[in-house]
Amino acid sequence: MITFEQYKMRADELREQMAAACRDAGRDPSEVRLLAVTKTHDAWAVDYAARHGLALVGENRVQEAASKKPLVSPETAAAMSAGKLKWELIGHLQSNKARLAAELFDRVQSVDGEKLLRHLDRAAGELGKTLPILLQINAGNDPAKFGAEPADAPRLLDTALALPHLRVDGLMTIAPLSENPGEMRQMAVRTFANLRAIRDDLAETRGTALRELSMGMTGDYKEAIAAGSTIIRVGTALYGARE
Ligand SMILES: *Cc1c(COP(=O)(O)O)cnc(C)c1O
Repeated sequence: MITFEQYKMRADELREQMAAACRDAGRDPSEVRLLAVTKTHDAWAVDYAARHGLALVGENRVQEAASKKPLVSPETAAAMSAGKLKWELIGHLQSNKARLAAELFDRVQSVDGEKLLRHLDRAAGELGKTLPILLQINAGNDPAKFGAEPADAPRLLDTALALPHLRVDGLMTIAPLSENPGEMRQMAVRTFANLRAIRDDLAETRGTALRELSMGMTGDYKEAIAAGSTIIRVGTALYGARE
């Protein structure tokens, strides 16, 4: 566990780097939001992010979020109920956990199949809410990654748009990993450009905004910002390496 001062230094440094990446790309820094990835860290990680004024935190497992949520500080809990701090699911979701996910999270970024869409829609309906989602696309054609294949994205979006209790905010992707930093950077650039092209095409043909592009993590957020990311999901640069 790090101290809040350590967290604050890292977060401020990251903000500066984000702003510089925005300047380089000719973008307004307010267009790119930071989502703190608190997975594997206890509730303190969420409290730090909230205390430092962040509006988005992400978890990759439903069960982990379910046990962490009751342990956040009263201030964090208040920010959550006031809608100032949103919890997002960024990890793979099985249909049988859709109900719990719809209950726990303000948005699910990792929606990658029709069956999951239908389960989430039914759960949101039962909860009397509209659930915001992103469609996760395997824009890097990475065999090791979840996410819908780019060719299936139009059909997935059409299904999602027809469901009454879901709201599609945009698309999400994860770039492929590689041992070689140069190669990894190239793949990230290609993956992010691809996601953006898919988004632009779908937005035009479906007449829907799909405003959010959730792409970029600790190792590749600069490339993502250059390609038009609106949400970067960062864990390591804020909290240090995970065990
Ligand atoms: C863990 C994770 C991140 C954050 O990764 P870092 O490299 O620690 O910044 C981002 N997105 C997803 C989907 C993740 O699972």
